[in-house]
Order: sequence, then structure tokens, then C-alpha cells
Amino acid sequence: MKECAIVKDLLPLYIEDMVSEETKLFINEHLKECEDCRNELDILKSEALISTPEIISENEMRPFRKAAKKLNRQLYGFSYMLIILFILLGFSYTAEEKMMYNSLIMPLVGAFSYATFKWQVIYKLPVLLVGVNIFAMIFGILSVDPMSAVLWTLIYMLFAFIGSLIAYLLHFAFRKEK
Ligand SMILES: [Zn+2]
Repeated sequence: MKECAIVKDLLPLYIEDMVSEETKLFINEHLKECEDCRNELDILKSEALISTPEIISENEMRPFRKAAKKLNRQLYGFSYMLIILFILLGFSYTAEEKMMYNSLIMPLVGAFSYATFKWQVIYKLPVLLVGVNIFAMIFGILSVDPMSAVLWTLIYMLFAFIGSLIAYLLHFAFRKEK
């Protein structure tokens, strides 16, 4: 039937609601009688449902996602530097008057490390603490005997992990509330 060809050409516009009232009536009338065109309409509708979100996310979101990824990487690097600097600061206070600040600095380092590394904090925090400890010993920032250095590193690790734990619990509670 010649009508079918016309209806099938118009169906994409019909599902987008971009046809005149007259055309819509004509198509509706035809669909009532023609199973072939009804099937065609079903196929077009399901295709439209699948392809629309994909077009938006793949083509339009790509530059945004790229930028977000780049920013994320830069933020991650910046956080890394900040954590190392604060650990170094803490070690430089060891066996000095300002040492008490470490009971605040180390938990903050731990909390910030959790925010940056998430579960990876479990191994990254000890590695960073030991690494900075060795660095501080070599460059004379930390001038205590090796036994004390090991002891302080362990104490700071404990403080830092308490901070991580608090950050984890807060994060967990906050997510539950949402
Ligand atoms: Zn038809």
C-alpha cells in the first residue's frame, strides 16, 4: 500500500511530536488498521529510548568529562604534596616545644589522606610516613636517634589512622543520611 510508505516516512517526526494535527490524525487512523506500521512505530520508539541518553553523554559530555578528569588528577597531585608537607612539618616538630601540635596535625593528615586515597590510605599512609621519616633523618630535619625515630613514626601513624577512622565514620554517616 502506498499509504504505508508515507506513514513510515513520517513516523520519526510523529514520535517527536513534530507533525501537524491533521497529519497526526491521518497517521493514527492508519495505525489502527495497519499492523506493519504499528510494529515500525514500536521499533522506532525503543530505538529513541536507547539512543537519546547515549548521544548526550558521548558527544556533549566528553569535553566536560575530560576536563573533570584533568582537574581530578591535578587535585590528587596537589593533595599528595600537601600530605607530604604536613608530615614533614610534624617530623620537624618532633622533640621540640611545638611537638604537641602533632596531636592535631597527624589526625588531620590522616583525615585528609582518607579523603584523597579512600581505602588505599591503609598502605599509602604508612608508606608516606616511613618515607618522609627517612627523608627527614637524612636531611637533618629530624635529629633523634634511629630507635626514637621508629617510635615516633609509629605514634604518628597511630594518630594519623585515628584521623582516617574519624573521617571514614563521618563519610559513612553522611552517606547514610542521604
Ligand atoms: Zn501501514
